Amino acid sequence: MDIRTVGIVGAGTMGNGIAHVFARSGYSVILCDIEQRFLERALETIAKNLEREVAKNKISANDKANALGRIQTVTDRSKLAACGFVVEAATEKFELKAEIFRDLDRLARPDVILASNTSSISITKLAAVTKRPDKIIGMHFFNPVPVMKLVEVIRGLATSGETFTAVRELALKLEKTPVEVNDAPGFVSNRVLMPLLNEAMYAVMEGVATPEAVDEVFKLGMAHPMGPLTLADFIGLDVCLDIMRVLQTGLGDPKYRPCPLLIKMVDAGWLGRKSGHGFYKY
Ligand code: NAD
Repeated sequence: MDIRTVGIVGAGTMGNGIAHVFARSGYSVILCDIEQRFLERALETIAKNLEREVAKNKISANDKANALGRIQTVTDRSKLAACGFVVEAATEKFELKAEIFRDLDRLARPDVILASNTSSISITKLAAVTKRPDKIIGMHFFNPVPVMKLVEVIRGLATSGETFTAVRELALKLEKTPVEVNDAPGFVSNRVLMPLLNEAMYAVMEGVATPEAVDEVFKLGMAHPMGPLTLADFIGLDVCLDIMRVLQTGLGDPKYRPCPLLIKMVDAGWLGRKSGHGFYKY
């Protein structure tokens, strides 16, 4: 499959990272969001992160300029009709993603694979809103995308072998390591990680330990590079809550109920690093 232009829907934390790695690997990128200011913010972040790679001698200043030159930003989704592959990285809400997939299915060429970077939403359900369920797949990158090697490649019930192979190869071209996973709530990464973060929040809520103490236990005792509450702040507490709700509904087991402290913090607008306030202040 000859893919030259990649469409990315959503220019937030993940979308800008995905645009970064595709552009750095020589693909033309069309990055789409609902407002111009989100696109401008994404371009600033990409430029800053590419500069960091220049400073570390991973790429040259020329590579940085070329990568930035390959990224076009749009608010008009119909411009994605020119793409040979699309990754959706918009907000983690099923109805929002379903609307995007219905529309992409209508506007993209029939041979184009449409991938979702969802952390937890069913690929099978997203595929069912399109007329090309064999070409719908999960391509789950990890934050920060330019740094993290893993891509969970998630097969929906109807995903074809050709689609899986194409996306696996694409991940390898981005110098990532694809791992094959079947569609189930939270896949592997969040099915196992989120209950850990949620339980750490219960420990704080119940006064078992401070966030600092919980994080120290995991850093020093389990050799985690960051503790669970620092990680939750980094991921975004709203994203953590959305994922816990998907696990709770999708698996139907009360052990996945979101920690009340997490709900309260999201209600307060304390979303972690991105809002300046979470378990820590930034
Ligand atoms: P984010 O809030 O930083 O960015 C989401 C972006 O989507 C925003 O810029 C928003 O304006 C845009 N958006 C919303 N509706 C849109 C629409 N209709 N069309 C185009 N753009 C639209 O969120 P994020 O952290 O980048 O998460 C994006 C996706 O990636 C989610 O599905 C999330 O579960 C997944 N994910 C997140 C992480 C993480 O660590 N944050 C890791 C892996 C996967």
